[in-house]
Amino acid sequence: MEKTDAILARYKKVMVPNYAPARFMPIKGQGVWLEDVEGKKYLDLTGGIAVTGLGHCPPEVAAALKAQLDKVWHVSNYYANLPVVELAELFTSLTGFERAFFANSGSEAVEAALKLVRRYAHDHFGPDKNEIISFHKSFHGRTLFSVTAGGQEAYRTGFGPLPPKMIYGIYNDADDLKRLISDQCCAVIMEPVQGEGGVLPATPEFAQAVRALCDQHQALLIFDEVQSGVGRTGSLFGYQQLGVMPDVLTAAKALGSGFPIGAMLTSTKIAQVFQPGVHGSTFGGNPLAAVAAKATLEIISKPQTLANVNKRSAQFLAGLQKIAAETGVFGEVRARGLLIGSELSPPYQDKAKLFVQTALGLGLLILVAGPNVIRLAPSLLISEEETTQGLKLIGQAVRDTIKSL
Ligand SMILES: *Cc1c(COP(=O)(O)O)cnc(C)c1O
Repeated sequence: MEKTDAILARYKKVMVPNYAPARFMPIKGQGVWLEDVEGKKYLDLTGGIAVTGLGHCPPEVAAALKAQLDKVWHVSNYYANLPVVELAELFTSLTGFERAFFANSGSEAVEAALKLVRRYAHDHFGPDKNEIISFHKSFHGRTLFSVTAGGQEAYRTGFGPLPPKMIYGIYNDADDLKRLISDQCCAVIMEPVQGEGGVLPATPEFAQAVRALCDQHQALLIFDEVQSGVGRTGSLFGYQQLGVMPDVLTAAKALGSGFPIGAMLTSTKIAQVFQPGVHGSTFGGNPLAAVAAKATLEIISKPQTLANVNKRSAQFLAGLQKIAAETGVFGEVRARGLLIGSELSPPYQDKAKLFVQTALGLGLLILVAGPNVIRLAPSLLISEEETTQGLKLIGQAVRDTIKSL
C-alpha cells in the first residue's frame, strides 16, 4: 500500500479536511469492478453512492460524451442547445412531468425546488405562505437551504442563522404531519426512500396521506429522488411505486452515470413562476452533461434494466437474510430495488464502519447509512454471478468482523 499511502499523504496536505478517504486509491473501473494504484481489484457495491447506475465507464455514455467532446462543451444559458432539448423531451416523456430545469448536483436540484415552491406560494397566495415541512432523518443536500431542509441536525450545527420557517415531522407518521401542516405551509419535501437516513422506505399509505394533506392545504409536494430515482428502486422513479404523483421531483446522482448533473421536474403551471432571471445556473444543462444524462436514461428506462434491478434485489435480499440467520449480525434487511439497507442487530450497534473496513481488505466496497446500517447501491446492471460473488464476500466480511471484535 506504499503508493496509496504516499498519495493519501499528499491529499491530506492540500485538501480541505472535510472527507476521510479510505486507504484505497482507485484509478480505473469497468462495470462493477474498480482497480487501485496497486493493481488490486475491488468489487464495487457502492456505485459511487448510487451514482454509477450503469457501472463504471458505461460504453454508451462514454460514446455520447466522446462524440460531444468534439462538437461543443458549453455555450451558457443565453443560448439553447440541442442536447438539453432532447434530454428534457426524453425526461418528460418518461415521467408525468412537463418541464425540466437542470443543475449540476442533487443539492442544487433541491435548492431549485425549494426556491420554486416558495416563489409559487409567494406569487399565488402571498408572502405568509412560506413554511416548508420535511422529515426527521431526511437528507436533501449540503447547500444552506437544502441542509436546513434535511432532518439531520448534525449537518446544520454551527452554520446558523439558517433559512427560517422549516418544520420537521416524523417520517411515516401521517397523524404527526396532520398536526404540523396548516395553510401557512407552502410545501412538503420528502424522499420516497430515505437513503442517507438508513434506507427507510415510505409506506404507500403515508405517501398518499402526505399527498392528500398537501392538497387540502394547497401546499406543493416535492419528492427528492436524488438517490431513489433513475432506476435505483426498480422503477424509473420511486414515486411510481407509491401511487402518488408529486408536484416537483428532483433527480441527480445516477442521472449522468458519474458526469455531474441534477434535474428538477415539474408541471407547466408551477414552472411559470421561474420566469427569465428568477433562477439560473452557469453550467446547468450544458451539452456534455445533457448527452451523458440522455444516454443514461435511455438504458435505465429499458424494461430489461429495471427487470434486472428487481431480480438482483431479490437475490441480494435472500442472500443477506441468509447471512443474518447464520451470523445474527443483521436485524431487518430492507431492499427497494438495488438500494439495500441491512440494520445491524443490537450487539453490533454503531459498528457499521468496522464492517466496511473489513470488507475493503477483502476487495469489497460497501457503504454505511448512519452508524447502524450497511448500505448497498451497486450498478443496476450487476449480473447474477457478480451478485453471488458480492454476497460471498459480504458473508466473509461479516464473519471476519465478528472474529475481530
Ligand atoms: C445525495 C443526495 C442529495 C445531495 O446531492 P449532491 O449531489 O451531493 O448535492 C440530495 N438529496 C438526496 C436524497 C440525496 O441522496
